[in-house]
Amino acid sequence: MNTPNSSTTAASDSKPEEPVVSASNFLRDIIAEDFRAGKYDSRVQTRFPPEPNGYLHIGHAKAICLDFGLADEFNGHTNLRFDDTNPEKEETEYVDSIMEDVRWLGFHWEGLYYASDYFDQLYEWAVKLIQAGKAYVDDLSADEVRKHRGTLTEPGKESPYRNRSVEENLDLFERMRAGEFPDGSRTLRAKIDMASPNVNMRDPVMYRILHAEHHRTGDKWCIYPMYDYAHGQSDSIERVTHSMCTLEFADHRPLYDWFIRELGIFPSQQIEFDRLNITYTLLSKRKLLQLVQDKQVSGWDDPRMPTISGIRRRGYTPRAIRNFCAAVGVSRTNGSTDFAMLEHFVREDLNRTSPRVMAVLRPLKLVIDNYPEGEVEEMDAINNPENESAGTRKVPFSRELYIEQDDFREDPPKQYHRLSPGREVRLRYGYFVKCMSVVKNDRGEVVEVHCTYDPASRGGNSPDGRKVKATIHWVSAQHAIDAEARLYDKLFTKPNPGDVEEGQDFTSNLNPESLEVVAAAKIEPSVRDAKAGSRYQFERLGYFCVDPDSTAGKLVFNRTASLKDTWAKIEKRG
Ligand code: ATP
Ligand code: MG
Repeated sequence: MNTPNSSTTAASDSKPEEPVVSASNFLRDIIAEDFRAGKYDSRVQTRFPPEPNGYLHIGHAKAICLDFGLADEFNGHTNLRFDDTNPEKEETEYVDSIMEDVRWLGFHWEGLYYASDYFDQLYEWAVKLIQAGKAYVDDLSADEVRKHRGTLTEPGKESPYRNRSVEENLDLFERMRAGEFPDGSRTLRAKIDMASPNVNMRDPVMYRILHAEHHRTGDKWCIYPMYDYAHGQSDSIERVTHSMCTLEFADHRPLYDWFIRELGIFPSQQIEFDRLNITYTLLSKRKLLQLVQDKQVSGWDDPRMPTISGIRRRGYTPRAIRNFCAAVGVSRTNGSTDFAMLEHFVREDLNRTSPRVMAVLRPLKLVIDNYPEGEVEEMDAINNPENESAGTRKVPFSRELYIEQDDFREDPPKQYHRLSPGREVRLRYGYFVKCMSVVKNDRGEVVEVHCTYDPASRGGNSPDGRKVKATIHWVSAQHAIDAEARLYDKLFTKPNPGDVEEGQDFTSNLNPESLEVVAAAKIEPSVRDAKAGSRYQFERLGYFCVDPDSTAGKLVFNRTASLKDTWAKIEKRG
């Protein structure tokens, strides 16, 4: 007897003992009930059906987590099926990226299929429907078909070609396939009901003529099935039990059920859930493609993009995304999720897993006048206070260091407790230092801070119990490695990027400050050989990830997330 799995897929970047957070939801309830009742012989099979016309985004991640996650829970399996019914928009690059992204999220598909694998079967079934008097060849143009369609309040009008004989329909359909007719001159339509209150049931088009090369079938076909004719039958061919999709397909379900019934084939069950929307974020492949084509971003994997490849490059972890998707849950109405929630799950995961290092983004030289010239000490630094087993490392300390420009003020404001003339602070893992003087350039800017240190405070505590109010990070000037840091902010300035003035489009809401490049950062030497994709917490600054643009001479880091949500604060200030 089958029993549901209590743990979900163990995956890359995730430890098996830490199952994805999962709460109950209506999809799981439906599947659990079917499982219990023995429907489909207690078999659970799902599919993830992307159209390969762009890169996957975080909305797709939600669908992936549901499709794969729920099947896993009930000992089932999931197929990856490319819905490649539209020959003109699909590219192999997209197919490859989709497979990479699903794998990276930590899921494994059982079967790998393409809707185009089913073109022969779909054609055969179309012939069967014609023979049964349930489909006909229509000579109306696309425009005329639309005009005959009616509206939500008015019924449609029947096409004058609706009552052709079966023989004539079979002949015309065969000749459509043989390439006798130009694009758009004819269609095959299901003969259902032009007066149906559901417009999807008003004799929907099943096939159109399109003399176009297909990325897999080449020039074999010049007629292509419509998505609505292909989707449900593809599920059925694969014997998918639970076909989960987003709410906009609810009105199409009666049509899928009609095809299944008329053809007498395996009855997959479609269940709809809400689309993921995130504030300040666009989740539409078409619009994301526009950003790529217009060079508003560096590519599909620009770290500001909500694509899986973009957030991967930015440093998000698969586990953070899975946890986020689980926490977002599912509902039967569309809503919007706060971007801060996504960042929360990213920070939560990175806080537990990323090694800490010291980096200075905007360096200011600090010279310890009473520290011996030429001396270097190796200071013990904790790699991850959240994980003792991550151990410690040595960080070189010397007479000349870099500190953050922000950590020094010549005239400190009231609440400012960091370094300023006459004030003593702690250098993390180092010593107490006290600012004695500064050196300025011609413009009057402080370019060097001179301090004295207390040799008795090694490691960060003074034996006389004296307190300091601030601890700042640093790197040793002669040991530091150069790096570029790319600091990201939201790509759009409005919670709903589609909220625009008349005559404008979403690009008018692009945030001109979404990328800031810090060209001359300094980092402790322990990260010298870091590989692209390595993630760190730069102490006090945020989470950073090594970008593939890094070279032997210069590491490039993407800021994955700041430590705190600065955006919310900025907004509050107005
Ligand atoms: P887009 O509008 O971005 O092109 P789509 O729905 O056309 O999205 P598909 O490739 O057809 O993209 O989607 C594959 C699967 O992912 C479908 O089952 C779809 O319902 C689901 N999906 C797409 N976008 C979202 C989203 N924002 N939230 C949840 N699921 C989504
Ligand atoms: Mg689509």
